[in-house]
Amino acid sequence: MYTQSNLLVCDTDGTYTCLNRYDPRTHLFEGEYSLVHNAYAHDAYFLSRFLMDHRGHQLMLIDSDDARYSEVRHTYQHYMEDDVPRYVDELMQRQLEAEWDHHRQQDMGQLQLLIVKKLIEQEWEAVQAKESKSERETYVLLGQDFAFRRSVQTINRVVEFPHG
Ligand SMILES: [Zn+2]
Repeated sequence: MYTQSNLLVCDTDGTYTCLNRYDPRTHLFEGEYSLVHNAYAHDAYFLSRFLMDHRGHQLMLIDSDDARYSEVRHTYQHYMEDDVPRYVDELMQRQLEAEWDHHRQQDMGQLQLLIVKKLIEQEWEAVQAKESKSERETYVLLGQDFAFRRSVQTINRVVEFPHG
């Protein structure tokens, strides 16, 4: 992450949008910052809006090392400034919903595994209840018993029950 903050400036309209810092690994700007949320937008929403509203205009990207930086911040209009907190709020809301969906899907996956486990346990009990009539059958039943035990143990490991 470069340390300088960046502004995209339109001198024709006396306005700017904050791109903030540039990350050379992802080639993305942090985007607008909401003080209320202490968070960056991390997307190009305001940049895109700014570019569309100022198409045909000469735009200049300046960073915080530039002599004009402080002057622009104090005298120019900050583009869509009032919309930043609401937008970042929406982003965070969407992120929470996505996380919630993810958890719900995990829960669904666990439920399906528990059903499978129940079915395997029923078959396992049936194998354990069977009486063998020969030495060969005993070996077969022992093999099945081992296989079912392994299946149940594997599911228990995957599901990670809070109580074993
Ligand atoms: Zn303009």
